[in-house]
Amino acid sequence: MTQTHFTILDAPSDADLARCVHCGLCLNQCPTYRITGLETESPRGRLFLIRGFAEGTQQINAQFAEHIGLCLGCRNCETVCPSGVRFGHLLEAARGEMIAQKKIGRIERAARWIIFKQIFPHPARLNALAALIALYQRMGLQKILRASGALKLFGRIGALEALLPSRRVTTFRFRTSRVSEMEHGKQGALFTGCIMRAAFGDIHDATVNVLEQNDWRITAPTQQVCCGALHLHAGEREWAKELARQNIDAFARSKQNENSNDAPIIVNAAGCGAVLKEYGELLRNDPVYAQRAHEFSARVLDVSEALAQTPLANMRAQKLRVTYQEPCHLAHGQQIKKQPREILNQVPGIDFVEMTASDRCCGSAGIYNVLHPEIANVLIDEKMANIAATGAEVVVTGNIGCLLQLEYGKSRSGWTGRVMHLVELLDAAE
Ligand code: SF4
Ligand code: SF4
Repeated sequence: MTQTHFTILDAPSDADLARCVHCGLCLNQCPTYRITGLETESPRGRLFLIRGFAEGTQQINAQFAEHIGLCLGCRNCETVCPSGVRFGHLLEAARGEMIAQKKIGRIERAARWIIFKQIFPHPARLNALAALIALYQRMGLQKILRASGALKLFGRIGALEALLPSRRVTTFRFRTSRVSEMEHGKQGALFTGCIMRAAFGDIHDATVNVLEQNDWRITAPTQQVCCGALHLHAGEREWAKELARQNIDAFARSKQNENSNDAPIIVNAAGCGAVLKEYGELLRNDPVYAQRAHEFSARVLDVSEALAQTPLANMRAQKLRVTYQEPCHLAHGQQIKKQPREILNQVPGIDFVEMTASDRCCGSAGIYNVLHPEIANVLIDEKMANIAATGAEVVVTGNIGCLLQLEYGKSRSGWTGRVMHLVELLDAAE
């Protein structure tokens, strides 16, 4: 097949489309196949549709949109595939094609424009939104509404509220004085992101504290923006590329800007890290940015990769039983599995227990839990049962989407432990 019906600039190659040998090894690793038992909700079934579209035997119609839309994008199928099928890339291309062919309605188009173009790329607007959520929490409205059960009356809006953090929302303010106070250390630049920066400043603070304790000298370029992961997963490829270019410029080497250099770019959100590591792929046809995008991606490290480079310093004992929920975009998107476990095992006093299927999606997957609660709730309930079975007092993870979904799962289950980001636990142990 050399003639493809894909119209997007970066259509999948023939080789990528032909890799699947239909062996079926991925089926039982796929959450949507396990729940529905349907071939059309499996990686193999979805690949059949995508290849059919490329060859001209399949239209992009409601059925295509349903099966491609129900995929979590968790990439668990990639980890087990013996043929090296790059499912995540094919899925993003299929969703990109749906957008390019304007296969979505006017209302959804408008909603996407507001969320993806008018909110996420603009730090000040995100700050305003975070301030409103903080006010809603401080006034006690969140507690009252949740306790009363009234949210059930508001349908999707109520479901969306249930996913707001119950932890206090704080906006990250990087103190440049910290850098000048440090005389030595390995240089690293923190990727602050969009929601993480606007609403989870405490996790960024913990990240900087832990890295500095471990001899990293951290800066945070001020011109950086959202990584574009939500845009890309939703098929908005051109908007994702705009953000990628802005980030490449923000982290570029510049003598004028001491926050910019060629130091590792350290990320504490697995979903962002997976996309940042793939900017080279995303911008491969860009005549100006292709090479720079590859160089940028080569600099990206998950915070667990950065911390695993040397033994952890100055750990205080923590008498805790801890288990670990693997973010899909860390375990399957970046193939990072051993570093977070090695790090947890270095904290004195921690009794680390593996849970069953820790690398299975928790159902968060961007805004999947709002769009497809029927699947997402099965996944999170199963996850909470696996956590409870370990007897753990703390579940640790490395992605904000998973963290919020686990907190939501906690509210649906009888488990009474704590949900923490890896760096929060380490910060508490220093
Ligand atoms: S494991 Fe890979 S080759 Fe086998 S059916 Fe799944 S995607 Fe195709
Ligand atoms: S990305 Fe996840 S949900 Fe989608 S086909 Fe692969 S395993 Fe299934």
